[in-house]
Amino acid sequence: MSDDKFTAIVIGGGPSGSTAAYVLAKEGLDVLLIEKGDTSGSKNMFGGRMYSHALNRIIPGFWEEAPVERAVTKEIITFLTEDKSVSVICQNDNWAKEPYHSFTLLRAEFDRWLASKAEEAGAIVATSIKVDDLIIENNKVVGIKAGEDEMYADVIIAADGVNSLMAQKAGLRKDLEPKQVATGIKQIIKLSKEKINDRFQVTDSYGVAQLFVGHCTKGLHGGGFLYTNKDTISIGLVINISALRHNTIRLVDLLEDFKNHPSIAPIIEDGEVEEYSAHLVPEAGINMKPQLIGEGFLVVGDAAGFVLNLGFLVRGMDFAIASGEAAAKAVIEAKKSNDFSKSALLAYERYLKQSFVMQHLEIYRKAPHFLENERLYGKYPALAANLLTKMFTVDGGQPRRLFGTAMNEIKMSGLSLAKLAMDGWKGMRSL
Ligand SMILES: Cc1cc2nc3c(=O)[nH]c(=O)nc-3n(C[C@H](O)[C@H](O)[C@H](O)COP(=O)(O)OP(=O)(O)OC[C@H]3O[C@@H](n4cnc5c(N)ncnc54)[C@H](O)[C@@H]3O)c2cc1C
Repeated sequence: MSDDKFTAIVIGGGPSGSTAAYVLAKEGLDVLLIEKGDTSGSKNMFGGRMYSHALNRIIPGFWEEAPVERAVTKEIITFLTEDKSVSVICQNDNWAKEPYHSFTLLRAEFDRWLASKAEEAGAIVATSIKVDDLIIENNKVVGIKAGEDEMYADVIIAADGVNSLMAQKAGLRKDLEPKQVATGIKQIIKLSKEKINDRFQVTDSYGVAQLFVGHCTKGLHGGGFLYTNKDTISIGLVINISALRHNTIRLVDLLEDFKNHPSIAPIIEDGEVEEYSAHLVPEAGINMKPQLIGEGFLVVGDAAGFVLNLGFLVRGMDFAIASGEAAAKAVIEAKKSNDFSKSALLAYERYLKQSFVMQHLEIYRKAPHFLENERLYGKYPALAANLLTKMFTVDGGQPRRLFGTAMNEIKMSGLSLAKLAMDGWKGMRSL
């Protein structure tokens, strides 16, 4: 490294940035990771669960040392009306075996650990520094400005999250459109390990990921989530911004209502709110992908919109990690020929296409559009809950076969068989 120039400067110490810095430093390249928070992750939030595969490929057996909370062995999807709920539970004890399928996490601890791995590998990690601007010379990004300081590198990696001002400054990304993003709010609720184990029927190291649809968002495009940590619960809501724009509903009130729902209140009873946070989530998948590569510049993770929301699962962490790795590999390749031009950095797109990142975003290209259908958040959860309630209700009244009950409930819900078939068909094709 010359005194004043790095091979790479990574902006942002979330999972995408720390992974890029880790992979680059392991290869012996000079890398500076800049994070605006006091520590990496200090201000970061997510719902609560990371799928393990991407990080396990880079740091095999990471769970031995990483601050993970519980390995998820139980998946629950719950349809809510104001006073009823219907749940589908999938339990798989194989998810409790190495290499664990997914873990619940607390980001402040996890992100700090991942940044420390980059530092251990040889990256310089600078925290409490906000990158204000890029230095662009002859249409090539050559460095960054942070306050009065200027720092230079062969390549800059923008890992600065969903708002990515850096990708905008590099001219690679436009402003986000409301329907491309959701806003998420979350509370971390302290609850004893024993109560969590009892209420969710799990043992110490294993946990639950639960997603909710229906009344929790009052029928708006979005959903609720709940993840069990060691001795806390992560609970929150995610609602698409365009749905919120036409409503006067306050997210904080929605979250309180959600917590008071008869299906939720008993499982969080006696819990104390420890933390409250809010954050944007990119939701449009591949449809919001910006240009990923500029002269001396790469965009990774949420900054590139790499999140997959299928309604029944949400993935951003594994995409962030894998895209950070792909960017680092492209820089390693560019370093060999000492060519950091846009055409040399195209290797980044190649690595992304070889990995699950582009393959998964591509195959679920239609999912964001399908999930805009408001029937998914109002009529269908109500239909499921009302139909199941009828099935299980015995009151000595007039008998009716299940088929007749179902038809009646469909009619009562204002749906038709044609609409059901059409939505089912679209769902099969997009999810
Ligand atoms: C409500 C919600 C629920 C979610 N649930 C899940 C889930 O359960 N599972 C899952 O896999 N994914 C989930 N996600 C998505 C996941 O959180 C993201 O995909 C992931 O955090 C992206 O990582 P990243 O490193 O690209 O960006 P981020 O995690 O946003 O990190 C960006 C970093 O850049 C720093 N930064 C920004 N600007 C600057 C600057 N100018 N200078 C220096 N530093 C800067 C920030 O401080 C931050 O540390 C959820 C997201 C939200 C909001």
